[in-house]
Amino acid sequence: MTKVIDCVAIGEELMKEIVKETEALKAKGITPGIATLLVGDDFGANMYRGQVEKFCEEAGFNYINENPAADVSEAEVIEIVKKLNANPTVSGILPLRPFPEQISDSAVINSIDVNKDIDCFHPFNMGKLAMGEVTFPPATPAAVIEILERYATEEGIDPKDFFEGAEIVVVGHSNIVGKPAAYLAVNRNATTSITHVFTSMKGNLAKHTTGADILIVAAGKADLIGPDLVKAGAIVIDVGINRVKVLDEKGEPVLNDKGKPKTKTVGDVSFDAVKDKTKAITPVPGGVGSVTNRMLMKNALKACKIANGLL
Ligand code: NDP
Repeated sequence: MTKVIDCVAIGEELMKEIVKETEALKAKGITPGIATLLVGDDFGANMYRGQVEKFCEEAGFNYINENPAADVSEAEVIEIVKKLNANPTVSGILPLRPFPEQISDSAVINSIDVNKDIDCFHPFNMGKLAMGEVTFPPATPAAVIEILERYATEEGIDPKDFFEGAEIVVVGHSNIVGKPAAYLAVNRNATTSITHVFTSMKGNLAKHTTGADILIVAAGKADLIGPDLVKAGAIVIDVGINRVKVLDEKGEPVLNDKGKPKTKTVGDVSFDAVKDKTKAITPVPGGVGSVTNRMLMKNALKACKIANGLL
């Protein structure tokens, strides 16, 4: 029987733990805080910013947003980062991309204090991740691991045994999801493969994915993974978030009251077609995204403890 993993419940559970830890820190006169850096007004980045603000409010964190105009210079943005590095009320700094084209991502990221780099963007922290000496596991891949560990525990399996020697295949090799997810898996002694668009182009994707005990998909392509790409009894974690048109039985777009095509959010896995073949699967929406922000906050708590000599 397939288990649809309740990631919303995991997110809520994590939030309770975060609130408890925050209260304990506050009792010592210490308040964790997150600063977001939004350059200009990119819609998606601002949506994400709003979520971080909401969760900070809920957990009792300090929150500030630095929002220079889109035509700001790179040097001015780096000055803002330096100010945040020096601000003791800011435990963690989250740069929200995309940046306008005159600003180099790496110039900004490299100027963040490595002890405030709560989404593990800085090459120093990525290097530590690759070496298995993780300070801040990046939020999305950390959410994937958290979901798997909690699933294992619920099934009565020691999370350590669950990962050791497991065949894990990651689809997608971006620096923020695919590669760090693979590092976190290999750090737990899983046998880990990373696949990407060139694997697909050579026609080799199924060869890898059908060997996976645990399949982690982060490609940003709706319906990339159908049942033919999944081993029977696999655990499937769908990280993808895609907006697609709602279609009727004839495959025609369904229109809304304004005559525009209705859209919905789906993952990279064809959930209905794949679900029954799996032992466990995460849905979209209500999947990995429900846990990601909480992992970022856990990292901010850790950064706060480091800054205050408690770790
Ligand atoms: P990127 O676009 O940066 O990376 C996508 C990766 O998928 C690339 O490595 C790409 O390979 C690979 N890929 C693309 N098409 C195929 C294919 N046909 N077969 C195999 N591999 C393919 O995206 P991100 O890593 O930033 O995000 C991935 C998805 O996860 C997105 O849908 C994003 O919205 C979602 N996401 C969800 C989060 C959450 O909390 N749930 C948080 C962050 C992201 P190549 O580089 O070779 O082209």
